[in-house]
Amino acid sequence: MQCPKCNSSMQEHTLSTLEGNVTVDRCDACKGLWFDIGEAEALKKKWMSDHVDSGDPNVGKEQNKIRDINCPRCDKPMEKLTDPLQTHIEYEACSDHGMYLDAGEFTDYKYETLMDIFRDFIFMIKKKG
Ligand SMILES: [Zn+2]
Ligand SMILES: [Zn+2]
Repeated sequence: MQCPKCNSSMQEHTLSTLEGNVTVDRCDACKGLWFDIGEAEALKKKWMSDHVDSGDPNVGKEQNKIRDINCPRCDKPMEKLTDPLQTHIEYEACSDHGMYLDAGEFTDYKYETLMDIFRDFIFMIKKKG
């Protein structure tokens, strides 16, 4: 598969999670990440992504300016989306196939999960108390 932003080749990386294997595609050049539908959610849950999003966030910021890209699976223009909770995270998505994140963005995405877990934890403590 080719990177929708810089046209370099993307390599598949398979990660083992408790719920099974998750495959992500990472661009060799800009380190952008492609997630097929559902995979980003699975990764977010399982905390198994630390070594995947290893790109330079500065490169990611440059790549983030490129927003008119086509889905690497079906070649249709992708939707430009912004994370409602973290408006600095902008990503592109194809509703049929998946989503594309620039280098460094997935780390932010996962950080939000940490905060969710933290909030749930606080909630449980309060309920018990
Ligand atoms: Zn690329
Ligand atoms: Zn598509």
